[in-house]
Order: sequence, then C-alpha cells, then structure tokens
Amino acid sequence: MNVSKKTGHRFGAHRVIAPPGAMPQNAWKLDDTPVPFANEILCDVEALNLDSASFAQIRAFCADDEQRIAEHILATVRERGKQHNAVTGSGGMFVGRVREIGDDLRGIDLREGDTIASLVSLTLTPLRLEAIAGVHVTSGHVAVRGTAILFESASWSKLPADIDPGVALAALDVAGAPAQIDKLVRPGMTVVVIGADGKSGMLACARARARLGRSGTLIGVAPRATTESAALLTSERIVDTFLEADARDALSLSDQIAKAAPGLADLVVNCVNVDGTELASILCAKDSGTVYFFSMNTSFTAAALGAEGVGKEVAMLIGNGYTKDHAAIALQTLRDNPAIHAYFNKYYAFARPAETLS
Ligand code: NAP
Repeated sequence: MNVSKKTGHRFGAHRVIAPPGAMPQNAWKLDDTPVPFANEILCDVEALNLDSASFAQIRAFCADDEQRIAEHILATVRERGKQHNAVTGSGGMFVGRVREIGDDLRGIDLREGDTIASLVSLTLTPLRLEAIAGVHVTSGHVAVRGTAILFESASWSKLPADIDPGVALAALDVAGAPAQIDKLVRPGMTVVVIGADGKSGMLACARARARLGRSGTLIGVAPRATTESAALLTSERIVDTFLEADARDALSLSDQIAKAAPGLADLVVNCVNVDGTELASILCAKDSGTVYFFSMNTSFTAAALGAEGVGKEVAMLIGNGYTKDHAAIALQTLRDNPAIHAYFNKYYAFARPAETLS
C-alpha cells in the first residue's frame, strides 16, 4: 500500500499510536515513518532548538555532559516518535530542508529543497533521528540527521536570507512573545518583563519599547543586572530600569517593583526558564492588571491558587505559541534592534566564529 496517496487528518491525528483518542501533542507516541501522507510535508532535519525549559532540565539531568544529552534526546525520540520532554512537557522546533510535499499541498508557497523552520512544537512533530552530530549547551541548538513530518495544519517559515539560520531558529522559537506584546502594550503603561535578559525577554522588551515609545515605564528583571544582555537593554535605553532579583522570591521582587513603580504594573510578562515564579508575577501586577505567562515553567495551579490566595484580580494569559504574523514580527524585531541582533549573532548563529555545533 502506498500511504503517500492517502490523505491524513489535517491535525495529524492519524499519526497517533498511543493512547487512543489523543491528539499528536498530548499523545505518548507518534508514528514517525518518514513517508508523507498526501497532506503532509517530509523534511530532512538539520538542527533542533530545544525550548529553554526543556533544555535546562535535560542539561541538569545529564550534568551538562554533551554525550549524555545527545543520548537522552535520541532515547526520547526513539521511544516517543517526537522530542517531548516528559518532565517539562515542552519541546522546541527544528530547521530542515523540505524533501517531499504531499500532492494535496502542491498549491502552497514552498518547494522541495527549501530550508524552513517549523513553527509548531516538537511535542507534536513526528521525528526520527539517525544521529546527533553535536550539542551546543549554551544555545540549546542540537545538530542532527533525521526526518520530520509537518501536518497540513502546521505552521512553518522559510528562513530569511538576511538572518543567520541559528539566529532565526532562536528567535522563531520564542516568536509568540514579541507578537503578543504588540497586542498587550499601549502607550503610557507600566510593563515588567521577568527573565528580561533571555531570548524571549529581550525580544519582548524591544517590542514593548517600540509600542511605548518614550512614554510609560519598562522594567526588566533577571537574577543578575550585569549580564551582557541586561547591560545591553540598559545602554540601548530599551528598559528604563533593570532590577536584579530572583523571581522565586515573590515578596522581595514585588517590594522592589513597588519601589520602582508605586502603582505596580499594568502588564507583567513572565519569560523565565525556572519553576516557582507565578506568585511574584501576580504580585507585581496592579489590581485588574494583566500577567502574560510566556514561560513553559508556568503551573496553572500555582497561578490560579496563588492569585486567589492573595486576593488579586488579574487577567492571566497563557503564552500561546502561535500568534498571527508571529514569525515576521520576531524577525523584524531583530532587524529593528541591531544591538540585540548582534547579541543573537554572537550566541545563537550557526556560523559562530571559532565555534561549531559538532
Ligand atoms: P532563556 O533565553 O533561557 O531566558 C530565561 C530567562 O529567565 C533568563 O533571563 C534568566 O536569567 C531568567 N531567569 C532564570 N531564573 C530566574 C529567576 N529565578 N528569576 C528571574 N529570572 C530568572 O529562555 P527563553 O528561550 O527566552 O524561554 C523562556 C521561557 O519561555 C522558557 O520557559 C521556555 O521554555 C518558554 N517558551 C515558551 C514558548 C511559548 O510558546 N509559550 C515558546 C518557547 C519557549 P539568567 O540568564 O540570568 O539565568
């Protein structure tokens, strides 16, 4: 039987092996067979970008040993048919070359041989790995040889010619954050970005500054105000204030925010890659303010019960990985902010000077 002639479910339900009734994202195991149905795209995968929550957990579990990290990822993908971290529940995305486009999708703006980044999570992407060529522990990039399937409903982005593929991969992984900021920030607001010196935090700050202009107040928060990225946000006048704080200490951080912005924040954006920061985010927001939880380390229970416990009526938003035009907005944010782009080039470019993935 030639399965490539059949049309699968547009959300990929036909690829679920277990448990019955699951969709690809919440399935335990997917069929990773590298033969596309008529409404699927088969890609040769060149690199994975594990999301920060997942990669931090794997790094800790494997004691930062690149060989162990590689074996851990290979074992997960072999067992589940996808890169789905069972501890954090999160994934990441991939860069690869289109090998075959199913007949039903012939009208799309994509050709065999094009290089693309997937814009859907690795937690729902059928993936088969032959080998891992290298693990780069600081960027979260993993050079691989393998194949992946994109469903009819999947988002993807062709890689731009003017941005290094590794930089594009890093920015596109967190593309939902700057795109949502566009919708949430209005001139005059007080905005707090927690985890401001990371990838999503920097892009969120840049986008918030663009929306605020010189109005309002933008406060960045991270454990150290002396990191290169924190210093950059300050020297480029993207943030008005950079606070050094551990967001797991809710009272200490909210006291610091109350000193810097006595009315508290209209919007708190949580971009951290550690657990236990929900209550700090809630306490930094004013009554009727908004907390945008972009972090994959967010616990629904901790946020819901934490807000109830302190009697705070705030709107809490889950960081949807998809937002209309999010890929274009993330890449444009880099183009609009040369200093941030240069920082991403230094740490996330595939063509890093004197440094390779393998
Ligand atoms: P990242 O580059 O690793 O940045 C993480 C940031 O959190 C850094 O600024 C880090 O500061 C800060 N941080 C760590 N511990 C902290 C603490 N105790 N208090 C305050 N700040 C702390 O991560 P990313 O790639 O931007 O991702 C951020 C989060 O978004 C992760 O949970 C990731 O999994 C998630 N994510 C969500 C989506 C989505 O669709 N919603 C998509 C992709 C990723 P230092 O650098 O000083 O440690």
